[in-house]
Amino acid sequence: MARTPLMAGNWKMNLNHFEGVSLVQKVAQGLKDAKHDPAAGEVVVLPPFTDLRSVQTVVMGDRLDVRYGAQDLSPHDAGAHTGDVSGAMLKALGCSYVVVGHSERRADHHETDEVVAAKVQAAYRHDLVPILCVGEGLEVRRAGQHVEHTLAQLDGALGGVTEEQARTLVVAYEPVWAIGTGEVATPEDAQEVCAAVRGRLAERFSADVAQAVRVLYGGSVKGSNVAAIMAQPDVDGALVGGASLDAEDFVRICDVRG
Ligand code: PEP
Repeated sequence: MARTPLMAGNWKMNLNHFEGVSLVQKVAQGLKDAKHDPAAGEVVVLPPFTDLRSVQTVVMGDRLDVRYGAQDLSPHDAGAHTGDVSGAMLKALGCSYVVVGHSERRADHHETDEVVAAKVQAAYRHDLVPILCVGEGLEVRRAGQHVEHTLAQLDGALGGVTEEQARTLVVAYEPVWAIGTGEVATPEDAQEVCAAVRGRLAERFSADVAQAVRVLYGGSVKGSNVAAIMAQPDVDGALVGGASLDAEDFVRICDVRG
């Protein structure tokens, strides 16, 4: 089964809503100029919560070929959770995707696998596609435990996920040592772990599900290195941080032929 490549731009805590609208418009225009075929590659932006309403207005109003989502969600649906944002709220804003378990949230907010699993469930309850982030730190990589570590995070997040739900899942393999450091995993490193992720999905669910799920690579992806990564058979796209803030480079990334 052919999987549609997915390029997702994680803006992290950058850009206010004016700046966010401007970036989305530039990206959409760049894609148009490059004659990007949306059927050949899906483009997603992941702005901060405060930008989502404005991004919704411009994407829907101008019918842009860009989808959007959030960088996190609450495991709860409503109530006394000050500062949190629910899946229902994101769905009402037209979000398609939500990032779950990004390494920066695991580190800054002490998110455990249990919390990540509860967020995956919350995403599915509200018809949002989780972009589940997994990946090892430098110590684990140096110890040669990167595959085991990443698969354990995957297992930890997928408890309670049904085969039907798993079909739509997106997994992002993001080695922590490659995020925002300029240190990119080699295409072979990315392929090794992305293939292992797909293998585990086949064991947990079915070969069918494993073939349907998109597995992304994330970690210092740029226009200049994306082609070699996308040439790997088990890499179906990229989760892009820094380079997604540069419209020209992000368009280059989105337009790569895998
Ligand atoms: C990320 O934020 O998920 C990421 C991969 O960042 P960067 O591309 O900047 O390494």
